Amino acid sequence: MFVLLPRFQQKLRITQKMAANNDFIKDITISKMQWKLKVRVVRMWEKPDRFNPGSIFSIELALQDEKGDRIHASIGKSVLHIFNKKINELGLYLMANFIACQNKERFNTTKHRLMLTFIQRTTVAETIDPLFPMNIFELRPYHQLINKVDVNESELFDVIGEIVNFSEVQTQKQGEITRKYMDIELEDDERNKLSATFWEEFVDQVILHLLSSNNQPIIVVMQLIKAHKFQDSYSVRNTWNTSKLWINPTFPQPEEFKTRLLSVRDSCSERLTQTISQQSFSVSDELQKGIAEVKTISQLVQSMQEGPCWIVASIENLELEKGWCYVSCKKCQKKVDKLGNIYQCPNPKCKNEDYSAIIRYKLQVRVMDTTGSVSLLLWDREAMFLIGKSAKELKEGFLENTGGVDMYLYPEELNNVLQRKLMFKVIVKSENIQLQKEIYSVVKLTDEEQLIKKYSLDTPTNDLTDPDFNNNQVFDGEKECEVNTSTTTLHIYSYEKHCS
Ligand SMILES: [Zn+2]
Repeated sequence: MFVLLPRFQQKLRITQKMAANNDFIKDITISKMQWKLKVRVVRMWEKPDRFNPGSIFSIELALQDEKGDRIHASIGKSVLHIFNKKINELGLYLMANFIACQNKERFNTTKHRLMLTFIQRTTVAETIDPLFPMNIFELRPYHQLINKVDVNESELFDVIGEIVNFSEVQTQKQGEITRKYMDIELEDDERNKLSATFWEEFVDQVILHLLSSNNQPIIVVMQLIKAHKFQDSYSVRNTWNTSKLWINPTFPQPEEFKTRLLSVRDSCSERLTQTISQQSFSVSDELQKGIAEVKTISQLVQSMQEGPCWIVASIENLELEKGWCYVSCKKCQKKVDKLGNIYQCPNPKCKNEDYSAIIRYKLQVRVMDTTGSVSLLLWDREAMFLIGKSAKELKEGFLENTGGVDMYLYPEELNNVLQRKLMFKVIVKSENIQLQKEIYSVVKLTDEEQLIKKYSLDTPTNDLTDPDFNNNQVFDGEKECEVNTSTTTLHIYSYEKHCS
């Protein structure tokens, strides 16, 4: 039996009474100062002093109550010392006594027409309430930004999305300052796309994740950002101080988004294969920045580390035991079963049923370098790049030429891929390591000759194996190189320089 002690009863009564006495943000007017709020700080940022660079002008807050209503609050220079250590972003507080006045900020962080100013008599006490909502984002649906509806450009808002494409880092000169930016493409859980420009600190933040994502989806929330009109459509961008980038956050709203996202999609790695390949970093950028290492095939096979790496190899054989294409679901790209007239997707997260389906490449090839050979899986985009025709065209042409009879076992065009030396970006998965499976998925490839030459291991050393080539210095160099042929781009680069 649980009995409340009198003292606790009293305390509970006080707490309830306090809760009952709290005001709600929507009721705030300019008529008085004694507002009592129970609010979460959903965003807190410093406003720099324009006339005194390096010092803070004020601390700004976006406060949200239990009902989800928000108001902007400002802690000016004169009271900064009282509050700056008392308040943290995401904290829950009982706050009272403010001056409420018209919100004349250039960008509105809330829809409330008033804002609060902290004064000497303002009180702040941290409080705990596990039931108080953690829905800290005001997520704007993409359709409100991409459907040519006018957007108030002085209003800041939040968007959530998966990064499905990104440009290289670029710079723009604005007066005397050079600022860096990146174009990012976001996708929501209904496959709508939204263009975003990440400026400055957003770039620094996201780069780290793009480099280490290992093809896991990167879900971001851009908080308190603005819309920018361009040719009838809007893109979104961060502001200098107010905006915040959350990467893979674990709050309820992003978690729900991720669940919805995964429920309509296939496994992440195959998805990213289709989206992030070409337009992301240029290959030379990627290699120079060490985003993925260049390895030899023997190093690849012995690799104990999951993730992407590059190899330079030539395609020596078609491995057609399992065919060269497959009939895929329009929605998730998984292989579908045909039942009567209907294609059924077996992916439990998709379960799409359709009268039509798409033929895609899944071409297994054997590639070699001077250290060994492995099998690679070329998916639709990469195979199409090499063959120059879609899987559908190839299949239709094949049926026409052979009249459906198996005179040839496969379309001749597939031979186009043979004896081609390319750089492949492959993904080492756990089954490659644990089951020593020597089939790797290709997520990107390039036929850029200069790069292939640069990262190729065999070209400059072939001559040196000639026994008549009796130059000790070069031999010593070669030996040293063997030791140094380790896995990083940098080492291989220095190896080349050393030997050639
Ligand atoms: Zn499907």
